[in-house]
Amino acid sequence: MKKDYSFSYLLLPLAFLLVLAGGLLVQRAGIQYDTAEKPGDLKLLPQANVNVADFFPNKPVEALVLFDPLEEDTKNLNENIIATLDSMRVKYVRFSISSGQIPVLTNYQTVIVATSDLSLLESQLSGIVDWVGNGGRVLFAIRPFPSSVFSDLSGAVGIISGNDSLIQASGVEYKTDFMVGGKGLILESDDLKYTSFPVQLSKDTIVHLVSADESKTPLLWQYNYGKGRIVFINTERFGSKEGRGVSSAAYSLLQNVFVYPVINSSVFFLDDFPSPVPAGTNDIITNQYSMDIDHFYTNVWWPDLQALAKKYNYKYTGVMIETYDDNVVPPFTKQLDTDRHQYFGRSLLADGGEVGLHGYNHIPFCLAETGVNKLFDYPGWPTTEAMQLSSYELFGFTKEVLPGNKYETYVPVSNILCSDARIWLPSVLPNLKVIASVYINDPQKLHYEQEFTESSDGIIELPRITSGYVPDNFVRWTVINELTLHYVNSHFAHPDDVLSEDRGSKQTWDALRNQFEDYVIWLYSSAPGLRSMTAKQGAVAVQRYVRLAVDARMVNGTYEINLGNFYDEASLMLRTSRKPASIEGGTISAVSSDMYLIRASKAKIVVKFEGETP
Ligand SMILES: [Zn+2]
Repeated sequence: MKKDYSFSYLLLPLAFLLVLAGGLLVQRAGIQYDTAEKPGDLKLLPQANVNVADFFPNKPVEALVLFDPLEEDTKNLNENIIATLDSMRVKYVRFSISSGQIPVLTNYQTVIVATSDLSLLESQLSGIVDWVGNGGRVLFAIRPFPSSVFSDLSGAVGIISGNDSLIQASGVEYKTDFMVGGKGLILESDDLKYTSFPVQLSKDTIVHLVSADESKTPLLWQYNYGKGRIVFINTERFGSKEGRGVSSAAYSLLQNVFVYPVINSSVFFLDDFPSPVPAGTNDIITNQYSMDIDHFYTNVWWPDLQALAKKYNYKYTGVMIETYDDNVVPPFTKQLDTDRHQYFGRSLLADGGEVGLHGYNHIPFCLAETGVNKLFDYPGWPTTEAMQLSSYELFGFTKEVLPGNKYETYVPVSNILCSDARIWLPSVLPNLKVIASVYINDPQKLHYEQEFTESSDGIIELPRITSGYVPDNFVRWTVINELTLHYVNSHFAHPDDVLSEDRGSKQTWDALRNQFEDYVIWLYSSAPGLRSMTAKQGAVAVQRYVRLAVDARMVNGTYEINLGNFYDEASLMLRTSRKPASIEGGTISAVSSDMYLIRASKAKIVVKFEGETP
């Protein structure tokens, strides 16, 4: 018997597939993007040498910083204390305790003890304590060495019993919400090990931080002594750069009302994106998705990241690599396959993101003679001209890939940028406005380390603070510090972290994505009002922040904040145990139980508090 075989039932799915393929083709080729500046977009201001420190010449000196220039242990702490005070616009004088009698304390509101060795202050500590009893405020910024001087002092800082021998402790547990995002977190980390005094504290102390280990050693507390206040830090671990936020919070606890400028910006970078995608397959990807790397990035990784950004309302800044060719000798061959660069670039821009530059190839800008690239297994460039020619090639390529896009942001390859290249770079990348390298350097200091600042050549330095899809406890600690000090998130990830056993910890993309989502949820719920931005927009915020001068004082029970170098808007953080009732010159919103984000729209802000007679 003959059977009829009909293939017509295949026509419908076939037609469907054809339509789908056609749709994808149109989508890949034709994503529309718009690079025009929108009305209301704030612009970078022209380069100018503005006076920030002395903008208000009559602003009184607030803090006396006591330090010992010969003490090696506290060099780092002192650098970071100074950077923190500058960042908060606290006017201070520094006094070397080895040079004799300290200045008359009644000329200051606060004293910061930034030395571990109290013996040089021995004869003067009772005078400091008396001054606190009469209303003075002291921050002990580092756990002192055990000594009889410290034992004599312990009662005045709220210790009722203790032991002179230090104990090993680790991690941090936040007992209050005195730092942005900290409340309730217990962060154990191998990178947070230190020594502390085991102490019993008076019930009148407010303990903000304890160690995360079993000892629960108090690490940071405040204590009202007489009419004054002492804030005490019981570890040597918070003096590093990523610990500046603790110093800022500890200092601000000294005052009943305290305000400081912040950047108020959250930026997510995707390094090496767009870039040529590695050909072939990867076991982790094949096992989970049955697809090659190319299809995985296009159909899984990028749509997942786009969905997260849409859901939580943030943006990506991608930085482009033309080729992974390791050539460092001209001529530099043009990348002919532009499909991927175009597709992902357009998609980034269409989502409101930014596309910046990373490199013609992935070789850091250091001459061979410096020996730097060799340390990272990269070839060194033979001449400056070769690096510059590769930049011209990159710039030409990227203009063709995304016509109209300005490419104002540059991320140094592997965060390495030798000092001579930093100088000439703005002259070969004509639209360059922003360099985004790293905030925290490696121990050998080989990376291009930055502050959030404006350089003398007009470039905005916008460092990245943290990285990875799975931020560990030390990363969270760092983020909490920078949210508290600058109200800033600056985070990067690589597409190929997913493929790397080191960086992706052998986890599936689903697992990485879910942990990254948890991190984003935590970030934005911890920092209400934090503005999501591209790198360029973040740079605009950094420029406003870095130029802002602040002079604040209580006048008849109301808090008056005067701003210098105010252009159009500014953000400030207010810490106060009193409840703000009204504001003039801006808006105010709660960040924690005693921290408030102020968005200034005028150069003068007036805050009134509840419980005051008008
Ligand atoms: Zn890279």
